[in-house]
Amino acid sequence: MQHFKHALDKLKAQDRLRRLPDLPQEGRYIVSDGLKLLNLSSNDYLGLAHDEVLRHEFLAGDACRELPWSSSSSRLLTGGFPIYQELETLLAARYQREAALLFNSGYHANIGILPALADKETLILADKLVHASLIDGIRLSDADYLRYRHNDYAQLERLLEQRAANYRCIIIVTESLFSMDGDTADLPYLVRLKKRYGHVLLYVDEAHAVGAYGETGLGLAEMQGCMADIDILTGTFGKALASVGAFAVCSALMKDYLTNHMRTLIFSTALPPVNVAWTHFIFQQIPKMKARRNRLAALSRRLREAVAAHYPSPMPAAANSHIIPCILGSNEAAAKQAQVWQQQGYYCLPIRPPTVPKGSARVRLSLTADISDDELDGFIHTLNKTAA
Ligand SMILES: *Cc1c(COP(=O)(O)O)cnc(C)c1O
Repeated sequence: MQHFKHALDKLKAQDRLRRLPDLPQEGRYIVSDGLKLLNLSSNDYLGLAHDEVLRHEFLAGDACRELPWSSSSSRLLTGGFPIYQELETLLAARYQREAALLFNSGYHANIGILPALADKETLILADKLVHASLIDGIRLSDADYLRYRHNDYAQLERLLEQRAANYRCIIIVTESLFSMDGDTADLPYLVRLKKRYGHVLLYVDEAHAVGAYGETGLGLAEMQGCMADIDILTGTFGKALASVGAFAVCSALMKDYLTNHMRTLIFSTALPPVNVAWTHFIFQQIPKMKARRNRLAALSRRLREAVAAHYPSPMPAAANSHIIPCILGSNEAAAKQAQVWQQQGYYCLPIRPPTVPKGSARVRLSLTADISDDELDGFIHTLNKTAA
C-alpha cells in the first residue's frame, strides 16, 4: 500500500493530483464553493442538456413511461429492446449508410472496435493527438501501430508507402475535431489517400463534432462531404446530444463483424432503454437545430479572435471550432490562469501533460450555444485584463 501512497504524493508534489469535484449546476452555471461560475468547460455544445422544454416534452411522452430504466443484460442475451434498432435505423438513414451500431459510451466504442478489427497482420496509423480511449483501443489490439505527427499527412503518406505492402489491413485512426487543440482533420484528403490502396480503412471519431457541425448536424464528415467514404465513423451521445452512449455508422458487413467480435459490446449490459429513447428523441431533432449551430459558430469566432490576441494559436486560422485552447506552456502558469478566471466567475480548467504534450499546458475553453452575448463580452473583458 505504501507504493500507492507514494504515487499519489508524487502527483501532488507535481501539482497533478486529480480529484472528484462536487459540482451542482444551474443551467450553464456551475456552483463551486458557493459561487456561481459560467461554465466554460462544457461539452453540452448545443445547450440541450438543461433545456427544460425538451426534457418536459420527453417526459410527457409514452416512451418515458413504458420503457424500463435498465436493460438488465447485454443486447446479445436478453437486453435487445427494439428501441436500440429504432435508433440504429434512424442513424443509418441520416448518415446514408447501410448500418449503425450503438455502444454504451464512446470509450466502450473506441476500446472495443480496434481490438475486434485488428490482428497481428494489421497496422494502425494514428494521429499523435487522438483521444486516450483510442490509444487504449490500440493497446488492447494485437496490431502493430505507429503514430504520425498531428495532422502531418505527408508523414502519414510516407508511412503508408513504406509499410502498406507488409500488412493485410491498415487502419488510419483520427478524430475529426481534436479535443485539446480544437483543430480539424482534412477528411477528404484522408479519403483520397486511403483509396489509393485496397486494404486501408479509415476510422474517424467525431465525438466533438456530432450535433455541432454539418448542414444537418451530423458532424465534420457531413460538412466536408465525405460521409460515404469513412469506413467507421463514430460519435458519442454524451456531448452535444445531451445523453449517454455512442454509435458507429459503417457497412452492414462491418456491423455484423463487430457484433460478433467486439468484447465491449458483447460482455456489457446495454444502456437503459429509456435513455436510448431520449437519445432517439434528441437525435430526431438535430437537423432542425441549425440556429443553435450558427450561434455556437458565432460565439466561437468571437472568442477565438479575443484569445488569439494573447495566446499562440496551435491551429490554422481557418479552423473555427468551439474548443479554444489558451496555451500557457508550464503547468504552473496554466493552473494559475485557470484559478484567476475561476475567481472572476468563469469555470475553466487547466489541462496538463500527459493529457497534452509536455510544455503545452493550457486552459481549455469550450463554448455552448446558450451563452449570451453579454456573458461572452464579460469573459472577453476579463481575458483582456488578466491574460498572462
Ligand atoms: C469524450 C470522447 C470520447 C469518449 O466518449 P464517452 O461517450 O464520453 O465515453 C471518445 N473520443 C473522443 C475524441 C472524446 O472526446
